[in-house]
Amino acid sequence: MSLIKKDFIFQEVNKIKGVGTQLSKYLKQKKIEKIKDILLNLPYSETDRSVISKIEKLEVGKIQTLKVNVKKLVFPRVRNLPNKIICEDETGDISIVYFNSREGYLRKIFPINKTLIISGKVNLFRNKLQISNPDYVTSFENKDYVVKNIPKYNLTKGLNEKKYRYISEQVLQNLPIIDDWVDEDFIKKNRILNWNHAIRNLHNSKESKDKNSKSFRRIVFDEICANLLTLSENRKRIRKIKKTKYFKKKISDQIIANLPFKLTESQIEVLNEINTDLKSNKRMFRILQGDVGSGKTIVSLLSIANVIESGYQCAFMGPTEILSNQHFNLAKKIFKNSKIKIEFLTGKIESSKRNEILKNLIKGNIDLLIGTHALFQRGVIFKNLGFVIVDEQHKFGVKQRSDLAKKGGKNCDVLLMSATPIPRTMMMSLYGDMDISKMAQKPSIRKSIITLSKPEKKIDELWPYIKKNINQNNQIFWVCPLIEESQFLDYTSAKRKFGIIFKKFPNKVGLIHGAMSKDEREQILNKFLKKEIFILVSTTVIEVGIDFPDANLIIIENANKFGLAQLHQLRGRVGRGEKQGTCILLFKDGLSENAKKRIKILKGTDDGFLISEADLSLRGFGDLTGFQQSGVKNFRFADPLNHKDLFELAENFILNVGKEINQQKYKFLLKLFDKAEIINMDEN
Ligand code: ADP
Ligand code: MG
Repeated sequence: MSLIKKDFIFQEVNKIKGVGTQLSKYLKQKKIEKIKDILLNLPYSETDRSVISKIEKLEVGKIQTLKVNVKKLVFPRVRNLPNKIICEDETGDISIVYFNSREGYLRKIFPINKTLIISGKVNLFRNKLQISNPDYVTSFENKDYVVKNIPKYNLTKGLNEKKYRYISEQVLQNLPIIDDWVDEDFIKKNRILNWNHAIRNLHNSKESKDKNSKSFRRIVFDEICANLLTLSENRKRIRKIKKTKYFKKKISDQIIANLPFKLTESQIEVLNEINTDLKSNKRMFRILQGDVGSGKTIVSLLSIANVIESGYQCAFMGPTEILSNQHFNLAKKIFKNSKIKIEFLTGKIESSKRNEILKNLIKGNIDLLIGTHALFQRGVIFKNLGFVIVDEQHKFGVKQRSDLAKKGGKNCDVLLMSATPIPRTMMMSLYGDMDISKMAQKPSIRKSIITLSKPEKKIDELWPYIKKNINQNNQIFWVCPLIEESQFLDYTSAKRKFGIIFKKFPNKVGLIHGAMSKDEREQILNKFLKKEIFILVSTTVIEVGIDFPDANLIIIENANKFGLAQLHQLRGRVGRGEKQGTCILLFKDGLSENAKKRIKILKGTDDGFLISEADLSLRGFGDLTGFQQSGVKNFRFADPLNHKDLFELAENFILNVGKEINQQKYKFLLKLFDKAEIINMDEN
């Protein structure tokens, strides 16, 4: 291969000898576009071709390797009949069969009387042994290329072991020695390998299969580091100098004094953190993590008051119309006695009203604009936006976050709020570009939710209880894991449950699920909010954040189907008002030990952070639907549970990189994991 060695591994795959347009296309299907992607595509197993078997000892159905002499070639002149080569050793003979193969080619690779090594899957056809389209045919002199264990990669149509091996071996042979970004001492101390050894070792499936081998740990470490470096670079770019804001807090002090409750210590602490940011000459880029019901909204509104009083506009975005509308109503109530002008903008607002809002916004006649994504559509122009708050946006990725930071302009602070508790191990890897505020405490007047479990077959005992609740003007959430019945899964579906409940409580029950449009869902939620219905049957689509003051009972079917963190979020939907909340977990009978453990944890604590840690250790990372939904992106190699020590190690390591990030070796690391583009984002 005639390539400049230095940036060899970042070239496109078509630079590899023998890789043309077609093969590039196939590789692309496996997300292999650059040469480095071949390095990172690790074998998951190996094919044992290391033993040369005698023909009489062959086992049908297995991949085996033979040493044979070519006896005879048969080319039938009839269409659809395969070409056949009869080969033999001292114990018997076997047919090698080819469909669609040209005679000339076969005559070349099967010279009569020549000794060959053949490897492939052995079949029986009309009681005779045969191998059709063998994986390898090579001369005996070349046997070392075939007679061994050969790494097995996840391949796709158009790529076979032989072809892919030809590619990956070329890459490994031409791999330049890289200047390692980790020094020898560190490597020795932390049970990892240097990069050059590790990457070569990993193409031996024994090393790549063992997720705790030194080589594998090395690539995990690198992956985490690349991730953290990207975030910390991003953070530096975003937290640039802003124009210092003149900072007042008269209005917020007044509001606090008039609140019907006392702020919790957590709320005061977080409010101070935010205020310190607002006063500082660096832009705020902060995430507020607070368990459901910890009281994030009031904290954000208080900080908004300070920014507005200092002469800047604020934007407050929620994920849905209903939630944004609740925030809007709350803001109107709280700011009633101030001069703060508030407007509400969603995609559905009629155009004359919208135009009026936009006009006032650009003139600076609106101080606070609350709404949905519509807040950031084109044409929405603020006069002097100083602060953006985004509620319940755990699905924002790094790129979206920095886009958001850009939208506000250089002078704009950003606060994200999320109720999804993230295990500590993952915190930095997810939010390393932001400052993190945590609100652990909940208002003490809030009673913790009573959590009960019940076998599903005793469901009839529930009906009188439900009836009693409805008579007491209470509302009920009823959560099912599926929308429709499935012939494969023995889970309760929302549609069927709705039918059953409807018979018992006609006109009191509504249904909501993910296959409905957002509008339809909001309509039903509004009915529930207005208490036109009392029972809401749903899948997990009802999002957190909405206050249903009279909802105090939630029933969750097939509760073992959900993760702990998810169950905790679900039960957080009740008991937000003054009433005692109750959560009933229904199970099919025969609970596993693990399931019992999980119920015990849920019953035992109301702390979302503790619960997410427990969830992680009980279920493992790969299985955490709750986390996946919350935007925790899957690492390719790292597993936050198994490689916990490496997450910590990488955090410390990256803290010390600092200015050295501009060195070539770190650029290499970032490019390896496709992070370079994120960091080179052009700025406005
Ligand atoms: P979340 O953090 O889940 O967004 P909210 O901000 O919606 O929680 O608050 C939930 C409920 O708790 C609201 O009805 C709110 O008025 C109330 N609340 C907030 N702070 C306190 C407090 N310090 N004491 C009592 N109730 C509070
Ligand atoms: Mg909220």
